[in-house]
Amino acid sequence: MKKLRLILGDQLNSKHSWLQESDDNTIYVLAEMRQETDYVKHHIQKVVAFFMSMRNFYTAIKENGHQAVYFQITDVENPQDLEKIIAICIEKYNIQKFEYLLPDEYRLDQQLKTICSNLKIESEAFDSEHFYTTRHEVSDFFEGKKLLLMENFYRSMRKKHHVLMDGSTPLGNQWNFDADNRKKYKGEVPVPEEKNFHTNVSEIVAQIKEAGIVTFGNINPDNFSWPTSREQSLEVLDYFCKNLLKHFGDYEDAMHTDEKFLFHSRLSFAMNSKMLSPKEVIETVISFYHANETDITISQVEGFVRQILGWREYIRGIYWKEMPNYAQMNVLENTNKLPDFFWTGKTKMNCMSHAINQSLDEAYTHHIQRLMVIGNFALLTQIHPDEVDAWYLGVYIDAIEWVEMPNTRGMSQYADGGIIATKPYVSSGSYINKMSNNCAKCHYNVKEKFGDKACPFNTLYWNFLDEKKEYFKGNQRMGMMLNLLKKINPEELYKIKVKANEIIDSMDSY
Ligand code: FAD
Ligand code: SF4
Repeated sequence: MKKLRLILGDQLNSKHSWLQESDDNTIYVLAEMRQETDYVKHHIQKVVAFFMSMRNFYTAIKENGHQAVYFQITDVENPQDLEKIIAICIEKYNIQKFEYLLPDEYRLDQQLKTICSNLKIESEAFDSEHFYTTRHEVSDFFEGKKLLLMENFYRSMRKKHHVLMDGSTPLGNQWNFDADNRKKYKGEVPVPEEKNFHTNVSEIVAQIKEAGIVTFGNINPDNFSWPTSREQSLEVLDYFCKNLLKHFGDYEDAMHTDEKFLFHSRLSFAMNSKMLSPKEVIETVISFYHANETDITISQVEGFVRQILGWREYIRGIYWKEMPNYAQMNVLENTNKLPDFFWTGKTKMNCMSHAINQSLDEAYTHHIQRLMVIGNFALLTQIHPDEVDAWYLGVYIDAIEWVEMPNTRGMSQYADGGIIATKPYVSSGSYINKMSNNCAKCHYNVKEKFGDKACPFNTLYWNFLDEKKEYFKGNQRMGMMLNLLKKINPEELYKIKVKANEIIDSMDSY
């Protein structure tokens, strides 16, 4: 039976059982499509990274003896739409059965179901063989529970997959070393040079322009840093183990104006495109740790494992549990527009300037910049979560809706009413000052709450609490913050609110 097998741009799993045997009756198809480049405005580096990785994957599977077809974005016969591409291939190659891998995005899942229901030939969906969990495992785990605590799920994953366990005891006698992972970075240990592949991507950039795809952000086409093949992805993993793991946990939450990446792995694109599996990442890191226990502490390794075995699987599970309603949630009824400086980086707030410009230059910031600087500002200024989601989905190299949306709309914007975060991740400037060196060189004064030089995060923070106090009054975890709000004298609060409204009305002048 002649089969057509679809591989989407984020399904580049060369270890998939499909690819372990070649067969003359099976044709693989990969396609660069306008439907994927245009559903949101993407960072140029994100489009390049996906196209380049797809092309390398196609070459690799052909070299391994598989039959495969590839549609480049500028090919004249490329219809730019998934349904049409499948139809063309079925006709051209006399296909009798269509097969696909379960997509991770709801949008594509729905589209493929519809396409298959319209096909006149048989079709079948297969697991992508990437995650530790099935789509609905998180949902089943929390069945009947009110609080969907990540920590509970994470511990069960550690036990189930026997990761960092000594029998039934967690290694190091602790499940969680979070409290050790909150150091400010003051240059006490040097940050190793970033891993950069210096790839020349001018040809793809020219094709993207020729196709008329609208992108944003910056790129140096002679010096593309991201991994775009399995071999390069493995190099990033190896580099992380040898150079960064040792201090990963310590400085996980730190920010520094001279160090864009600190000790973060920058493995998210390699994993989200499935060039690497989470299991091989975790196993490699743990074996490296065991071989170097005198040099690396358990808290570094546990911190890293928690992000992947815990957060990444949990986030995906919440996405499948809550979609499609999740995409509409906006419990705080925020309606403001994103300021222009999210696209230009032009702001006097040093922390925002660094985080936004880094996003535009690198298509990357690390977690705390996403959560406690950019996301914090968006929530404090009460931006509509649709706008925030669209920006995050476009800007980051690793942004695919299943992982972007629960992190942004849920964890960062609290638009889901606390499904993911038990309280909103908001803070005044003092948190940013505690975790970074941004404030020392800022136009604003981190100690002031109102007045011309007051740190906007301070003003906006107290205004946010005041505006949302009714909503949060029953939330025990907000009790301390709301009590502090009550202690601010009414005259001062009035000045704060006037200033906050000024900021919200003219965010681009701050
Ligand atoms: P490291 O710090 O080295 O962590 C290792 C790995 O852990 C990451 O590669 C990632 O796979 C995983 N991880 C860590 N935290 C999370 C998390 N909260 N959710 C899922 N996986 C996690 N991650 C994405 O992959 N895509 C996104 O679109 C995305 N959007 C985000 C939006 C917001 C508002 C926030 C707060 C977080 C977002 N994250 C997203 C999670 C996290 O910030 C990134 O995974 C991480 O910054 C990627 O960099 P890294 O590979 O250097 O990570
Ligand atoms: Fe950011 Fe405020 Fe610090 Fe400036 S003073 S860097 S705006 S937190």
